This record gives sequence, C-alpha cells and structure tokens, in this order.
Amino acid sequence: MSEGLVTASYIGATILFILTLGGLSNQETARRGNIYGIIGMTLAIVATVFGPEVSGTMSYILIAVMMGVGGAVGFTLARKVEMTQMPELVAILHSLVGLAAVLVGYVNFMDETISFATHAEKVIHEVEIYIGILIGAITFSGSIIAFGKLSGKIGGNPLLLPARHFLNLGLLIATIWLCTVFVHQAETGGGTLPLLIMTLIALAFGVHMVMAIGGADMPVVVSMLNSYSGWAASATGFMLSNDLLIVVGALVGSSGAILSYIMCRAMNRNFISVIAGGFGTTSGTAASGSAEDQGEVVAIETHDVAELLLDAKEVMIIPGYGMAVAQAQHTVHEITQTLRDKKINVRFGIHPVAGRMPGHMNVLLAEAKVPYDIVYEMDEINDDFPDIDVSIIIGANDIVNPSALDDPNSPIAGMPVMECWKGKTTIVLKRGMATGYAGVQNPLFFKENTRMYFGDAKESLDAVLKEIL
Ligand code: NDP
Repeated sequence: MSEGLVTASYIGATILFILTLGGLSNQETARRGNIYGIIGMTLAIVATVFGPEVSGTMSYILIAVMMGVGGAVGFTLARKVEMTQMPELVAILHSLVGLAAVLVGYVNFMDETISFATHAEKVIHEVEIYIGILIGAITFSGSIIAFGKLSGKIGGNPLLLPARHFLNLGLLIATIWLCTVFVHQAETGGGTLPLLIMTLIALAFGVHMVMAIGGADMPVVVSMLNSYSGWAASATGFMLSNDLLIVVGALVGSSGAILSYIMCRAMNRNFISVIAGGFGTTSGTAASGSAEDQGEVVAIETHDVAELLLDAKEVMIIPGYGMAVAQAQHTVHEITQTLRDKKINVRFGIHPVAGRMPGHMNVLLAEAKVPYDIVYEMDEINDDFPDIDVSIIIGANDIVNPSALDDPNSPIAGMPVMECWKGKTTIVLKRGMATGYAGVQNPLFFKENTRMYFGDAKESLDAVLKEIL
C-alpha cells in the first residue's frame, strides 16, 4: 500500500472516529456510532499492517500470530465477562494501553537504527520517549489498582500516607530532574538508569494516586484512567511517528477528561480534591450510623407492590448497581410495558454515577430495549418527584441517599441524589440492609413513605410482573 493511500486511510479513519464519538453521545445513535468505530478501526489496522512501515514475510507472520492470540483472548473474555464485571474489564484493558506505551518507549529507546536530521529532533524524540513511558507506567499501575478496587480485591478505604501531598510533589520534581539527566546521558548513548528509575517512580505514583482515592470517588478514577490511556496512546503515536495514533489517543484522552469533569460535577466534587484523594470509605460497612440508630423499616409483600403500581398514575423507576447484579433489566422492561399498556405513565431516572461505570444503566436498559424517550437524566426529572405516585428503586443505594444532602459528615456529602422521598411512596428493592459502594447507611429506608421489598431484584420483579399481568 502506498504512503498516499495510507494517509488517505488514516484521514478516513480519523473522520470515522470523530463520527463515533458524536454517535455515542446519544442512545439513539450509539449503535451507528459503534459501527463507525468498527469500520474506522478495521481501516486503521489494514492501512497500518499493509503500509510501508511493515515489510518482510516474517513481520506479517508475527503480526498475524499476535493478532490471532490477542483476538482469541479478547473474544473469549468479552463472551465470558458478566455485565457486572464490565468496569473491572475496562480498567484492566486501560492497563494494557499503559503497558504498551511503556514497552514501545523502551523499544524505541533501544532502537539504534533511527536517525535524526538535527540535534533538536533527537532531543524531542528522547523527551517523547520519556513522557510516553511516564504516562504509560502511571496508567498501567493505576489501572491495576483500580481493577483491584472495582473487583473488591482491594478495599475501598483511601490510603492516606502522612505528608502524601509532599510525597507526590517530591516524586514530580524527581521526575523532571531525571528527564534532564536522561536527555543529557542519551547524548552519549547512555540514559538507561534514569529511565528505569523514572519508570519505578511512575509505577509507584500510579499505585499511590489510586490507592489514595476513596470508594465514593471511584467513578472519577475510572474516567480519569480512561483519559490517561488515551494520552498514553497519543504518546506512543509520537514515538512511532504515527499520526493516526496521535489523533485517536488525543480523542480518547480529551473525551475521558471531559467525562471526568462531568462525573466530578455529577458528584459535586472538585477534580483536584479527588486526585488529592481521601474521600469515601470502605464499601460494605456502615460508616455513618448503623441501622439500629435510624428506626424501623417497613417491609412490603409482592401483592401490595403490584397494587400500589396498578393504582398509580405516575411511576418513576430508579435503577442502580443491584439491577446489574440481578440482571433484572428485561423484567423491568416487561413491567414497564405492562403498566404503560394500562395507561400508567412510567419513566426512568438515571443518576450519572449509578452502577459501576459511566452509562452503566443506560447500557442495560438499551439492551432490554426500554424506549429511550422515557429514560431521563437526573437533572431532567429531579424536580418532578412531588408529582410521582410510586418510585421503584431497583438495587440502588448511594444515588438515593438523602444524607448526601443533609449530613455534611457523610462521605458522599454534597453529591446530588435522586430525591425520590419527595414522591408519595418509595419502594426499595434490595436483598438486605447492606450499604452501597460508598459504605454509608441510607436514611431513605427508614422514612415513613418508604417500603422495603426484600429479595433478589430479578426474582422480586418476576413475582410483581405475574401479579400485574
Ligand atoms: P450502590 O452500590 O450504592 O448500591 C447497590 C445496592 O444494590 C446495594 O445496596 C445492594 O444491597 C443492592 N443489590 C445488590 N445486588 C442486588 C440484587 N441481586 N438484587 C437486589 N439488590 C441488590 O449502587 P448505586 O447504583 O446506588 O450507586 C453507585 C455507587 O457506585 C456510587 O457510590 C458510585 O460512586 C459508585 N461507583 C460508580 C461508578 C460509575 O462509574 N458509575 C464507578 C465506581 C463506583 P443488598 O446487598 O442489601 O441487596
């Protein structure tokens, strides 16, 4: 394939990736967006593999074997992974982008065949290598810790080392100093030692950065690492002089940064204070008040849930992480359909951090074919609760916790939540009285107009569906 054709393919792929991002911004166009992405990626791979950079039968055999192995692992993982494990999978995939940037950086550093027209070009290339490895190593170790935290292998408690801000500052200064040492030594063919020390510092920084972030702020970490993986890919693009990789990396990096900003706003957090860490507590324990402190909960049975729903005119469904665990989305859709057929207005309210990854609930509802036009963002419907007859909370906890608004000491204080308690009746579906991800007890469960419908969300909703049919 000629250089001109490769460039044209790269431009085509870039346009397709931009269209992909545009498509993914809306549920109705998301499928189309994905298709653009698939075509763009295929075009990019074909143009790169058959471009002038790759030559010799051995190279093609190597690429084919590697793509076969990588493809088989990816295919098996994607088929096997449960919807609830998606966030962990995304985190571990980010770590691979980081690792790739580190490896490409070292290979580039060791490659003695690269020649430069000017001294300045050589220095720029060395700085590219240094920055690429730096971002890659932070992304790699940070993503592995995020994987551990999201899968529950590492506790959600923030690790707060004494003088941690000074520690971070010290690491930053050391990294900048090592860069000057590296560039200086690379003049005479050296530089391995400063590069290795910097890699270790960056790995330690990645671990420290994510360990210091508490459970409640994990949504921001997920989107932030997404952004880092983009910048790591972009840095790899600079090292390999691959324009497409630079552009695609920048697209991922900047969209991840925008997502981090949106998540911060949704949680009413300052980005810098999230990165500085320390919010949130361990998941699964009551952090602010135990169940006994708050009074009694009132349980409800299937028949009464069905009656409340059939008597309602306005129903709001608020899904959370538990709906993903129970895989209840299809039953939720059937109940919605049945109620709508009976002229009951059913809407969905989606909190931006519901579930365990951005857009988690939207994906599940789209999978179950819930019509998009009845699915609303929190900001769009939060004022409507006084007119709601029945709110059904399906496996959600933190996102409907009034203590975020009332209790300044709560780990989720200040986070906007779905104010469902302002409606007539709230029905909460969960298995027991366990806390949510942030580990805080929820006063909503003890309110006068709340009814607890205990059990696995899928089994409970199946029973309700039978009653209302
Ligand atoms: P939560 O984690 O707060 O609560 C989920 C609830 O679901 C639990 O209290 C659990 O209670 C219940 N549950 C679990 N399994 C089932 C089941 N099979 N049937 C019925 N109920 C079940 O989820 P939310 O969606 O309310 O909030 C999301 C939290 O996750 C926030 O704190 C957010 O910050 C955090 N987070 C979000 C990310 C994102 O990007 N969206 C990423 C990382 C973290 P019980 O065990 O009693 O059934």
